[in-house]
Amino acid sequence: MQVVTRFAPSPTGFLHIGGARTALFCWLYARAKGGKFLLRIEDTDRERSTQAAVDAIFDGLSWLGLDADEPPLLQSERAERHREVALELVRRGAAYRCPVSQDELEARRAAAAALRREREIAAPMSAEQAASLEAARDHLMKPFRSAWRDPARPLPEGAPYVVRLRMPDEGEIVVEDRVQGRVRIACSDLDDLILLRSDGTPTYMLAVVVDDHDMGVTHVIRGDDHLTNTFRQLPIYLGMGWTPPVHAHVPMIHGPDGKKLSKRHGALGVEAYRELGYLPEALKNYLLRLGWSHGDDEIIDTDQAIAWFDLDGLGKAPARLDIAKLNAVNSHYMARADNDRLADLFFALPFEPEVEARLSPAARDRIRAAMGMLKTRAATIVQLKDASAFLSDLRPIRLTGKSADLLNDEARERLRQVVRRLEALPDWSEGAIRDEISGLCSELGVPMGKIGPLLRAVLTGGAAAPDIMLVLTLLGRNECLARLKDQAEGAR
Ligand code: GLU
Repeated sequence: MQVVTRFAPSPTGFLHIGGARTALFCWLYARAKGGKFLLRIEDTDRERSTQAAVDAIFDGLSWLGLDADEPPLLQSERAERHREVALELVRRGAAYRCPVSQDELEARRAAAAALRREREIAAPMSAEQAASLEAARDHLMKPFRSAWRDPARPLPEGAPYVVRLRMPDEGEIVVEDRVQGRVRIACSDLDDLILLRSDGTPTYMLAVVVDDHDMGVTHVIRGDDHLTNTFRQLPIYLGMGWTPPVHAHVPMIHGPDGKKLSKRHGALGVEAYRELGYLPEALKNYLLRLGWSHGDDEIIDTDQAIAWFDLDGLGKAPARLDIAKLNAVNSHYMARADNDRLADLFFALPFEPEVEARLSPAARDRIRAAMGMLKTRAATIVQLKDASAFLSDLRPIRLTGKSADLLNDEARERLRQVVRRLEALPDWSEGAIRDEISGLCSELGVPMGKIGPLLRAVLTGGAAAPDIMLVLTLLGRNECLARLKDQAEGAR
């Protein structure tokens, strides 16, 4: 049997990282088993679904490389098929027409609750009255079983009706969940849920089952907020004589404080992580580990994940988002990523105007050429801003504080000597520069420790930078000499 998984987001907002993780698990399972991964947009909530959200979801998935094997299915386009199944369920006796709509049921329940409140504060009533009121209330508060379950009971002439599922009277619905284990609920605790509303539109519960069946879905992997829906969905499969899929309900992602992830924890959408400068392969690795494990392995690239992924590795306890760990994983992937790709991602960032102004074509070239070193000094693409600041157009550098104090007349004279020697240097390589500067140090009888800090101050203006010889090499001859001359000649 070919494995078919699906990701079925409701397009009401961005691609949540919880959703992205679900999609990743579904995608990996399909890839691991040589199966198919499908997409379904659950856009039946007309008021809350938007095209912008659909686009954001596709965008997030494609950024993460979670490609579907077939064009996405739009749930809203399948209402006719959903209706057909509802009527087939009626024909089979697994569902029935009922004139009590959801609104009416809710109104009745609200009235029952109000009656009870009234009774509590109102004048005394007879024990009999009280008992009958209580019985009526209890009846209405219980899972709804309509009087029209009885096929012999005729519908009121011309009255609108809904189609309800006939929940079994007795027994249990049992979900053999691959993550949660065996979970059961008594049928008497479940409503006769509505499948078709009185305007003929299908409900979400019906649409999910029909679509999963028609798409040939064999494994439903989704958040455990849907576990309770499964109890309502299984009887629909049974009513149609369809084989239900395997279920795996994955615990939600929690924030660092152990509470369910919410806005107050910060970034929720995948696009926010992209903007924060994380690489898709790193976020993917991180999300995989957030809920799935393979021994103690932390770094698991996509190929390895495909080879290893199975439902048995899914954890039952909710995982907590840990940004320090995400940064560590991202650093790992940054260090291995192609330098030009990182440079392109870096230059595509939105820069503050003053930063942008310092990124001349020459500065961009310097940064691109230095990427092999820069990427080891930044955990994210955004952190490359600080790491590369010394390579941007800083001139004229205004020295402040301790750096300014270093620059006395003697220091200026030393800088002029450095300039003279470096100007004459035929080969601008790290080794040649190092030899030249240590030659100068021995000539002057000063230790390197005297010149290094001065050069660092003058060349970087105090920006974070690597070893001074590397700074000289990466800045290149022209920019180095220009920065040195600025200060040697007294531009302050
Ligand atoms: N549309 C549902 C959601 O976005 C998912 C339904 C399902 O996976 O069965 O939460």
